Order: sequence, then structure tokens, then C-alpha cells
Amino acid sequence: MTVARVKMLAGNWKMHKLNSEVEAFFAAFVQSLGLSPEQRLAGRLDLLFAVPATILAQAAKTCKPLGISVAAQNVHWEASGAYTGEISLPMLREVGVTATLIGHSERRQYFAETDATVAKKTKACLQDGVLPLVCVGETLAERDGGLVESVISRQMQSILAAVGSGAGLSDLVVAYEPVWAIGTGRTATAAQAQSVHALIRSLVTDAFGASAASALRIVYGGSANPSNIKELLAEKDIDGALVGGASLKPEEFAKMARAALAV
Ligand code: PEP
Repeated sequence: MTVARVKMLAGNWKMHKLNSEVEAFFAAFVQSLGLSPEQRLAGRLDLLFAVPATILAQAAKTCKPLGISVAAQNVHWEASGAYTGEISLPMLREVGVTATLIGHSERRQYFAETDATVAKKTKACLQDGVLPLVCVGETLAERDGGLVESVISRQMQSILAAVGSGAGLSDLVVAYEPVWAIGTGRTATAAQAQSVHALIRSLVTDAFGASAASALRIVYGGSANPSNIKELLAEKDIDGALVGGASLKPEEFAKMARAALAV
């Protein structure tokens, strides 16, 4: 059985924006989008913004009536404890956050995130009912060295081990983000992205079977913008996009959302 997958457009604000900017941003975004709340909630496109920790509560309050989800950019796997500087899943849920990025390449590169910590976080999210948006992707040196398949396979194996069975794959999103395409203006071609998305789906098929794999949403990230989004989303295994730079501009991101709805 093939499962119809709802497209997802997720913004990643990284370390940008203040609480004082939140209301104006979403007012401009919704105006540019030009859809009624009913149309936004019609289930054809999931819109989500991963925002800095200080903005989560304000963004969740502002976004709830708009039918837009708010995600954290990181989370700890324990519910509480002596983990200075960390934030837990109950803390996120308390302020209305329903999803979190896990294993973004900037966290792997600058903050010692590993496949093992990514797996623990993914497992905790699935147990807690918070949607994990788990990032994988190769560096340029790995691509040039012909290592795309082995790197993606290694990253996916630890995620799939954390998932445990194929039953909950509709509660997980994988973001394929080639590190060389993030924030560089150099997007993977639609064909390059599709081939890695197909690889990811085949790894999930090997682990849990084709029916479970068909429920998994795999989104692309790496310099996605209004000019290339349509071509990317036309590929059969690309179920949406994770967007950094272009998500900071309400009009740009609204254009991408309209393009996603038109695919
Ligand atoms: C990201 O931060 O996940 C990302 C894809 O950034 P950008 O769109 O700016 O490349």
C-alpha cells in the first residue's frame, strides 16, 4: 500500500530574530501567502518554523491560530536533570512546541552532535509525541571522495535503530541536507537530491518494508529558494524542503509555500 505524503515546508531561523520581530514576521507571511486559515489547515501542506529557544513560546502562541507549527532547533533526550544549558521535551511541549530539528549539520560540525546523540534524541521524541525532523547529509569532501552512499547509510542506520520498527515512520521526517549546499547558494540539482532521497527510502525499505518506507517524509535542505523549489518538489521522493536563508524573509518563504501547494 502506498501512503499519500503531505508536503512539508520548514523554515530554520538558526540564530536569527528576536521576540519583538515575531508578530510582524507572521503577519507579513500570512498576508503574502494569501490563503484563509481554512485553506492553510486543509492538510495539503505542513508549514513549520524552527526558531531560537528564546522565541519558541512567543512563536507558538502566534502560530497556533494560523495553522503553522513551531519547532525547536535542538532538544535533550532526558526529561530533566543536571544538563546545564539544555532544554527537554516536556519544556518544549509546555510552550506549545510540537517538533524539533535533530542533528543539523551545524550542530554536528560545531557542537559535537554525533550519530549516537542523534539516535537518543530521535527515540526520545518518538516516545514523547514530538515530531523529530532529523538531518543527514554528506560534506563536499565526502561527495568528492565517492562516499555519499556510505555516509548516508551510516547516518540512517542509527536513526532507524532508534525508530525500532516501521510503525511510526509517519511521525518522523528525515531532512537530506548536503553540507556543501547549506547557506552556500549552491543547491543540489533536483536529480542529485532525488538520487539520495531514493537511497534513503531504499534503506528504510530494507529495514522495515516498502509500505512503511512509503509513509516516511524526506525533505531536501540546502539553498532552496523560490526559484528552485518547484523543480525539487517535482521529484517523486522529495516531500518538502528545510529552508534556512529564504525562511527569514516572509515574502520569499510565502512564494515557496505557494509553489509547494501548486506541485
Ligand atoms: C538549513 O539551515 O537547514 C539550510 C538548508 O539553510 P539554507 O537554506 O540557507 O541553505
